[in-house]
Amino acid sequence: MTRILMTNDDGVFSEGLRLLEEELRLLAEVVVVAPDREQSATSHSLTLHRPLRMRRLREGVYAVDGTPTDCVALAVHWLLEGRRPDLVISGINYGLNLGDDVTYSGTVSASFEASLMGLPSVAFSMEVAEGFSFARGARFAARFVKTLLAGDLPEDLLLNVNLPVAEPLGVEMTRLGKRVYEQSVVEKKDPRGRKYFWIAGTPEWRREEGTDHDAICRGYVSVTPLHLDLTDYPRLQGEGELSRRLLSLLTAEDEGAQAGAEG
Ligand code: MN
Repeated sequence: MTRILMTNDDGVFSEGLRLLEEELRLLAEVVVVAPDREQSATSHSLTLHRPLRMRRLREGVYAVDGTPTDCVALAVHWLLEGRRPDLVISGINYGLNLGDDVTYSGTVSASFEASLMGLPSVAFSMEVAEGFSFARGARFAARFVKTLLAGDLPEDLLLNVNLPVAEPLGVEMTRLGKRVYEQSVVEKKDPRGRKYFWIAGTPEWRREEGTDHDAICRGYVSVTPLHLDLTDYPRLQGEGELSRRLLSLLTAEDEGAQAGAEG
């Protein structure tokens, strides 16, 4: 039987996780290992400086006092040792994880961790607005997983899936969208007169066709295939002025220029 490992960053008691778990149990053996409390925006952090505890809540459901990445690590290397999952599912997250925000996302990072271990993975997130229903999201996500399981799952498969708040009009394959960066820092004073800060600002998106953001705006499910290789290939291969300058560093040409400057 197919074995699915589930986690999230909203915590083990999140409705998005619980409802999807119920749906997926109809398709596969499901093991849930999730943070014991909300860990949103924890990104890909790993707990290395204190011990971690895992608690069994009920059959096949475990809580860890750590991050989503810790959960995947403990699940795969310890709990499921010798019983590797066929697929890792993260979510459903309460709120979208689009574009540049995937780098902050604990939901997506759990999938990144799975990917590092050679496990196919899907991160699900859902738009929160009027008419929000995790039940609807979970039903769709389960259909999505069933469709995936009908074919081969490449071990480097990593899908970031965002669900619109309403009944989806269809599914689109997308690229990551871009934020118009308007995040600001608000400075205030505490009762003792010392400064404190809030990271604030509402996200504004560049409306571009073919992006995850655009698909969601039009009421479609957005599916973005991701990989962990952050290399900027065009720049690596390009022969720009920047590479010329950097490549001359520590060469005879560079030493000559230095000597000239010092002389
Ligand atoms: Mn979250």
